[in-house]
Order: sequence, then structure tokens, then C-alpha cells
Amino acid sequence: MIVMKFGGTSVGDAARVGQAAAIVEAQPAPRAVVVSAASGVTNLLLDAARAAAVEGDELVAKLAADIRGKHHEIAAAIGDDQERAAALAALDQLHAALDDALADVARAGKLSPRDSDRTVATGEKAMSILLAGVLRSRGTPAVHVWADRVIATDDRHGHARPDRGQTRELAAQEVLPHLDAGATVVFTGFIGRAPDGSTTTLGRGGSDYSATLLGAALDADEVQIWTDVPGVLSADPRQVPDARVVPGISYDEAQELAHFGAKVLHPRTIRPAVSLGIPVRILSTFAPHEPGTLVTREAPGSSVKAVTALTNLLLLTIDVPELEDLAAASAAVFGALHGDRIEVVAASQASSRRRMTYVVDAAGHGGCARVGQRMREALEAADIESEVGCEEDVALVAAVGAGVAAAPHTLSQLLAVLGRAGIPVLSTNQQHSNVALTVAVPAKDSARAVLTLHDVFIGPQAASARGRRRRRADMLAESLRVG
Ligand code: ADP
Ligand code: ASP
Ligand code: MG
Repeated sequence: MIVMKFGGTSVGDAARVGQAAAIVEAQPAPRAVVVSAASGVTNLLLDAARAAAVEGDELVAKLAADIRGKHHEIAAAIGDDQERAAALAALDQLHAALDDALADVARAGKLSPRDSDRTVATGEKAMSILLAGVLRSRGTPAVHVWADRVIATDDRHGHARPDRGQTRELAAQEVLPHLDAGATVVFTGFIGRAPDGSTTTLGRGGSDYSATLLGAALDADEVQIWTDVPGVLSADPRQVPDARVVPGISYDEAQELAHFGAKVLHPRTIRPAVSLGIPVRILSTFAPHEPGTLVTREAPGSSVKAVTALTNLLLLTIDVPELEDLAAASAAVFGALHGDRIEVVAASQASSRRRMTYVVDAAGHGGCARVGQRMREALEAADIESEVGCEEDVALVAAVGAGVAAAPHTLSQLLAVLGRAGIPVLSTNQQHSNVALTVAVPAKDSARAVLTLHDVFIGPQAASARGRRRRRADMLAESLRVG
């Protein structure tokens, strides 16, 4: 069986939902379909929830009406009268539950992560009703199933962690019987169920993760991520117009790409597929016959396949004069970061200089003023003499491809190229995986760094491999001459 996931743009309006239905029908049954909310709806729901906590009823009512309108517009295109009426009735119930949730937020006067998840789940739930309705109206048996009955998670609302064993049992109860009966199951992405039965979410963009979680729970033969680009590209096409499809990548490469900012896959997507060796294919709903990208355990190629960037990061440097304090210092720093739920994106240590460098994602943690101070306090509490530096507006640029970190010249090439372009390198990292080399640069230079590295390592669209090698050699020679 296969699991097919459709992202927000791919179900963004009535015409697109119709196209998604046709793509589903072209695949052999049994099949489960994971849907995101229609594009824009998750943001509208979050705006409504925040507005309910602090603003007046008027704005909340307007946002709720916009959400209803978007869903009704899609429902109106369901061809069969009975199916359309059934979908509208199910949507009415869902929208009434949304109004209740927003009223509870307004009464509380604040938005808890739990209420936020309860509210925001409406988008995926509505889409599951709509796509199942569209499929049935086209003559394809389909049922919708909500993941807050199936994807078991912990209670970290907003970024819940799944329990794979329990999810497998629940999928066997709630999903398999429908597949066995010949129905296409339309399943909500993004959401899960906490131990107390409340609805959780897996983090923004989490429907990709839902797809592989469901795929693993059902022992799927393949998971397909249908999106608005024709596969994993060699860079974000919005940044690099020359970016092209990478036909095959390994799980490790996909994981690093997602971790270092390729939004096309949620960072946690790959893990459930790895354990069972399930192939993951990234395909475009706008060009459904293109081969896309296939992610498997082993993939051909050993050079740089893609360049990515993560922005909005902080760079922490901890200088520890006493070499023997290094281990305790890193324990104190990691402890404090973990305690504050600050994600470490990259870390490196130069023991000769007794300097530890951490690139951290501190969004919502108050910037250097707070994070730097927290680190100083943690090191003082551990009685470690140290100097803490912190820089804001940092980006991490990554060159991803099997073997890049092991290839002796890639890092020097990369540094030379950035040096030639006048882009300061704040820190480098090559140890933490053998498929990614990362450098921290000022955020203002990140787009230029990505363009430059893409040009050198991957090259313009039409360039032949030989032309590319020559171009890289020329640029390198020039950068060495100048540098
Ligand atoms: P969906 O709604 O289908 O989940 P997303 O917007 O989350 O889609 O992800 C697809 C987008 O990811 C693309 O439109 C593209 O702009 C962006 N993107 C960033 N990096 C890459 C990359 N390396 N390859 C493909 N797409 C990328
Ligand atoms: N709808 C959710 C979001 O916008 C999940 C997803 O699209 O993957 O974040
Ligand atoms: Mg996405």
C-alpha cells in the first residue's frame, strides 16, 4: 500500500483539490492520503486563536468567517448533491467546534498551547472531509479519519513527539479496516493525540512527518510527498532560479537537507521511513508525470547535491581558559539550552583554543541579551571560569551530499569561494555528519552565500559536468589568487 501526502498549496482551492483527487485515483489501491490544511488556513486559525485571547470579538468573527468561506468554496465544487450536503453538514459541526474553542480562549484571556492545537487542527480536519467528499462524488470509495484518534503523542502541545508503537496499534484499529474494505482513507496531517485524549500538533509543516509516521505504522511500500515543486531541488528555487531536481538522495542526505532548512521536507520526516526502509518520493501536483526525487537508503553520487540555509540563528561562543573545564562547560551549556528548549543546530569545539561554538535556534527566546545571560549564569552556577560571546542575525549555510565532509578539499573550496565573495565565515562545522558541511555567516549574506556556492558546486542549469568542473576550478584558482 502507499501513503500519499498533499501539502497546503496542492489542496489550496477547489480546482487543486480536484487535481489531487485525480492523482490519488491514478495510483493503485490500497492507499491512504494525508492532507494538510488548504494553504493559508493554518495561519488564519492561529491569527483567530491569538485574536480571541487579546482582541475583540469582531476580528475573531471576521477570521472565522474567512476560514468558513474558504472551506465552503471548496465544498461547493463537490459534484454530487448528496455528497456536497454531507460535507457541508460535517463542516458545520467542525466550524461550530471551532467557535466553541475560540470562545473558550476568549474566556481564558490567554492562548494555551493546548487550546492553540485544538483550534488549529480545524484546518486539516476540514480538508479530510472535503477531499473524501470529492473522491466519493467522483465514484471512489473514501472515508476521512482524524489523526487525533491514531497518531499517539506525548503532551507537548505545539511540537508533540509521537509514540510509534502505540500509533501502530491505533492505525491497525482505526485505519486498516477501511483499507481492507477497499476505501481510500483520507487522513489529517499535522495532528496527534496526547495521552489525555486532547489534540496535539507535530510542529509547523508537520504533515510530511504524519505521512511517514502513518506509512511506518501501516508498513507502506512507499510514501509520496506531493507538493508544489517537482522534487527536492539543489536549492530553494525562490533563492536560486537555477536550482534543479535532484533525482535520488539517501535518507541521510534528505535528513540533513531538511534539518538545514530545505522546507520541502519537515525535519523529522525521514526517521520513521529509515527504520523500515520505506522509499519516500517527492512529487509535484503541478507536474504529476515528472519523476521527482526518490529518497532511499543508498543513493548515487558523492558530491554536493544541494545548498541550503537556515536563518534567524544565534552564534554562541564559550571560551574556557582551563582545558580540564571543557567537558563540564559543555555539560552546563547543553543543560541550560535543553532546559530552555533551545535547539542546537550545529556545534563545534576547537580544543586548542578552548573555544566551543554553538549555532542555536533561539526564536522566541529573547535574543542574545537573554540567551547569553542564561549561559553565563549556567557556567557560573557550575563554577566554571569562562567568557561567553553571542552574535545575533546569523545564518547557517550547508552544502549537502554524501562524502562532502570527508572530501578533503570541499571545505577549503567552500571557504575560498566565500572569501572571494567577501562573505565573512563566523564558524565552520564538518564533524557532525559526513554528508553536510556547514558554515555560519551573517544572515544578511546568507542569500548571496547560497547563490555563490550553488553556482560553484552545482553550476548553472545548462552547464555540463565537465563545464562545471572547469568553472569550479577557475573560480577556485581566482579566489586563491585574490585571497
Ligand atoms: P507543502 O505545502 O506542500 O508542504 P512547503 O511550502 O512546505 O510545501 O514546501 C515546499 C517549498 O519548499 C517549495 O515551494 C520551495 O519554495 C521550498 N524549498 C526550500 N528548499 C527547497 C529545496 N531544496 N527543494 C525544493 N523545495 C524547497
Ligand atoms: N498545516 C500545517 C502548517 O501549515 C501543517 C502542514 O502544512 O504540514 O504548518
Ligand atoms: Mg510543508
